[in-house]
Amino acid sequence: VTTGIFYHKVFLGHNAGIGHPESPERLEATMEFLIQQKVFDNTHARQMRPRAATMKELELIHPKPYIELVKSAAEHESRLDRDTRAVKGSWNAALLAAGAGLKAWDEIIAGNLSNAFGLVRPPGHHANADSARGFCLFNNIAILARYITTAKPSNRVLIIDFDAHHGNGTQEILYDDPSTLYLGLHQDGRTLYPGYSGYVDEIGAGAGKGYNINIPLPPGIADVSYLKALREIFPPLVDQFQPTAILVSAGYDAHFRDYQTNMKLSNGAFYHTSDLIVRQAQKACKGRVIMLLEGGYDLKGLSESIYNTLIPMMKKGTPIKDKPPDEDPRIGKYVNRLLAAIKETFKPWWKL
Ligand SMILES: [Zn+2]
Repeated sequence: VTTGIFYHKVFLGHNAGIGHPESPERLEATMEFLIQQKVFDNTHARQMRPRAATMKELELIHPKPYIELVKSAAEHESRLDRDTRAVKGSWNAALLAAGAGLKAWDEIIAGNLSNAFGLVRPPGHHANADSARGFCLFNNIAILARYITTAKPSNRVLIIDFDAHHGNGTQEILYDDPSTLYLGLHQDGRTLYPGYSGYVDEIGAGAGKGYNINIPLPPGIADVSYLKALREIFPPLVDQFQPTAILVSAGYDAHFRDYQTNMKLSNGAFYHTSDLIVRQAQKACKGRVIMLLEGGYDLKGLSESIYNTLIPMMKKGTPIKDKPPDEDPRIGKYVNRLLAAIKETFKPWWKL
């Protein structure tokens, strides 16, 4: 077993602005912590250099004029959205962030890696085909999904997005594509950005109907109800969909320390989530898992939870535990009703 951890100093060259939560320090703190935990001192993990995505690969998702717009915004250091800015270093960072997953897939197929984690920035899951949004320039996970599904007609991928914000860009891009099953666990949009999306009734369209599943979770949710939701929905989807690979939009802003959201997960929730993903991937697709970093803004919560995520992937290490706040008992009841509604909605497609 070898886990590829994709990282490059070029990612630090993207700067979203003074005081912006999506900062270069996120990756610096994480790398420092992983080195301190001796992650790279054994054969279970290897630090890998990402490659740049080519224009043709970006065009799997993004139209040429949009790619040119991002390039020019980087050259002129201008804003693409109220909270999404580019600087000169953003262009190369964005190309490597989009290319990391592509190289990871090539290495997995070549038998050189069993699974991979991309410590990348800028993140991607809010980016639409033709617009930058929510700190995201290119949709790294959607590019990777299409890279895999267009390589061979029989290929299909399951994307699980556990960032606290809904992956609206990913959902919109892949909405009518039955070769890609999107599962999002996130804080209910009535209480968090982006707000207009991420609800249960967004089930996909056309041939992709039934292949888009949202679990909008209540603010204040902690480990018990979160893991219950995950365990009831995710494993049966993998068993029935039988993906070629499981791709993960790995965001850590659902951690209780994170000040950007109102979810209350501990480090342990990320360990158990990763453990379940890895075990399902072993059953369905030879353990092929590629995770790409999305959000996560508390440096301690972020670095410890990424380490906990890597443990089941590397099959080495002891999870770091912290104590989450208690969960309001009403949340468990709410989540039970929510899960019942999801099962009912997706009855025509999945036995959940
Ligand atoms: Zn987020």
